[in-house]
Amino acid sequence: MKLETLAVHAGDRKKPGPQVPVTTPIHTATTYFYDTTEQLDRIFAHEESGYCYSRFDNPTNAALEELITALEGGAGALACASGMAAIQIALSAALMDRRKFILAADALYGATVRMLMSIFEPLGFEVGFVDICDSAAVERAIAERRPGCILLETVSNPLLRVGAIDHIAAAARTAGAALVVDNTFATPLLSRPLELGANLVLHSATKYLAGHGDVLGGLVVSDQEYLEPLRDLSRTCGPVLGPFESYLTMRGIKTFALRMERQCSNACRLAGWLASHPSVERVYFPADPAHPDSAAIRKLFPQGMYGAMVSFELKDAGRQEIFGFMDRLRLVVRSTSLGDVHTMILYPAMSSHRDLSPKQRERMGIRDNLLRLSVGIEAVEDVIADLDQALGSRG
Ligand SMILES: *Cc1c(COP(=O)(O)O)cnc(C)c1O
Repeated sequence: MKLETLAVHAGDRKKPGPQVPVTTPIHTATTYFYDTTEQLDRIFAHEESGYCYSRFDNPTNAALEELITALEGGAGALACASGMAAIQIALSAALMDRRKFILAADALYGATVRMLMSIFEPLGFEVGFVDICDSAAVERAIAERRPGCILLETVSNPLLRVGAIDHIAAAARTAGAALVVDNTFATPLLSRPLELGANLVLHSATKYLAGHGDVLGGLVVSDQEYLEPLRDLSRTCGPVLGPFESYLTMRGIKTFALRMERQCSNACRLAGWLASHPSVERVYFPADPAHPDSAAIRKLFPQGMYGAMVSFELKDAGRQEIFGFMDRLRLVVRSTSLGDVHTMILYPAMSSHRDLSPKQRERMGIRDNLLRLSVGIEAVEDVIADLDQALGSRG
């Protein structure tokens, strides 16, 4: 079945009573009744499948996990309380029996960098960074540093760079390193990293998958090798998603393919419009034929789908002009998140990359006139009109 169909049907159709409900109910029970103590004993021993405690398993979470497993083409999944919880447990599972060196992409979500530097490093893990869009540099780093795992994002933030995941996966496999991919920006509609050789794929489900700005959640999808370590760790550490959030996430995912298609086509229109606007200095968008990673993009993404993030630089704008422009927006939401049904704008120098000095930002290519749009499902003409009026009265 195709992804659009799986998104609507996978995970549901369990039979808790005489009839099958069309959506999986929210199971709030943390514990269960058993016919006999013998049966409970067998469930504890994993000799019989069954639920016994919500930190281990929950039927609502299980339905969501089955759904995301189907969408990403994995062996199984874990629903977590946030995207960050998903990253933490995915890295822990990847490194259990591996050299404690994480080779990470040098462009990562801000909180992910903080997690690596202020949690994993102090705990004794080594962390190194590499430009994952430079295949030769990645191969060199793998050979020299012998990482236990490699962590990257399918599409980087906010400059929207795309590495050759298939090449990196092959190099990782040869070197015996686990590949962990944050697929939040691309979603399984654009990219299924497990099929390209990754071992663990994760999402901030808070973004495109749930999609409505009303639930915080994370998902880790695993290949066969890492599934047991992942679920084992989770049984003990308990970073699991609550059943209410699980239900909302699953409800969101049913329409995710439709939303994402619209968001991708809106983003293409917006990127084109921005590129021709006299107040815009430069647009960053993966459809750009001059994009530095266009070979990987053409190879990895379906035709016409480039994601729904668009970054752009305002001509001759500093903090004051940027704030003025953002304050004039009436429809586009000034917010820190992404992937919702509404279009959102973010100023990286103020938010995601706030803790870096202007010089560090400049070195990463993130200039102080850079803005990032997360394009929603609105009629794109209305978004364009809002941006146009906010740009037009600049001065
Ligand atoms: C938002 C985000 C995260 C963190 O997810 P939370 O749900 O906020 O914990 C991780 N990676 C990427 C790429 C994100 O956009």
